[in-house]
Amino acid sequence: MAMLELSNVETFYGTIQALFGMSLRCQQGEVTTLLGRNGMGKTTTVGSIIGTLSSRSGEIRFDGELVNGRPAYEVAQLGIGLVPEGRQVFPNLSVRENLVATAANFSGSADPWTLDKVLDFFPRLRERLDNQGIQLSGGEQQMLAIGRALMLNPRLLILDEATEGLAPLIRQEIWRRLEQLKQSGLTILLIDKNIDELAHIADRHFIIEKGQVVWEGDSDELTGDAGLKARYLGI
Ligand code: ATP
Repeated sequence: MAMLELSNVETFYGTIQALFGMSLRCQQGEVTTLLGRNGMGKTTTVGSIIGTLSSRSGEIRFDGELVNGRPAYEVAQLGIGLVPEGRQVFPNLSVRENLVATAANFSGSADPWTLDKVLDFFPRLRERLDNQGIQLSGGEQQMLAIGRALMLNPRLLILDEATEGLAPLIRQEIWRRLEQLKQSGLTILLIDKNIDELAHIADRHFIIEKGQVVWEGDSDELTGDAGLKARYLGI
């Protein structure tokens, strides 16, 4: 079943159109990626899903329910969690405060994420519990941003460029954690540029160009087609 489905979504910044009939599906329990060069509309797609941007036409359904036009806090309450581009942890709050500041059990999980569970999941954060967000390394900030999203107990987790600027070892650690989250049944939408690494954990990929999907396929199809990368991803 599709947990998230976008059909023909059009989104504008004032008079400038950024999404031109964007369509995408995330199946329950799968990792889906949204790939594409800079400026093609990935972040606009994310904003349209989570309600920080309002789409002008098309449909966005989460678990069958129409979500376009709803304010962002309502979409979050329905169970969509975001790890935003650039991490955006609260710089002057401690790791502990960052994690508990917005915590909630939006999915009504019987076994929800708690501070302790997040700290077990990312042991580095336990060591840094009383440090401020701004004192953390890039990788630690990314773990904190993921931990903060988990503390909302989402059913769908969206990560926008979660590994950007991170050293390879830290990136691998983030991928391993995402694999664990997938194994626990979480549905994940990943926006990232490290395609070959992504292909190991993701099930389905969508390539966006100029505000619409131009290719869709599984990991074997993605990695097997070198021309595809050159054509749409500039790799
Ligand atoms: P990146 O990886 O660089 O973030 P992206 O694929 O996420 O790229 P978007 O940020 O969604 O791309 O941008 C899609 C299009 O919308 C681009 O052409 C961009 O110039 C335009 N755009 C984005 N934000 C605004 C804005 N605030 N006002 C006007 N146009 C915008």
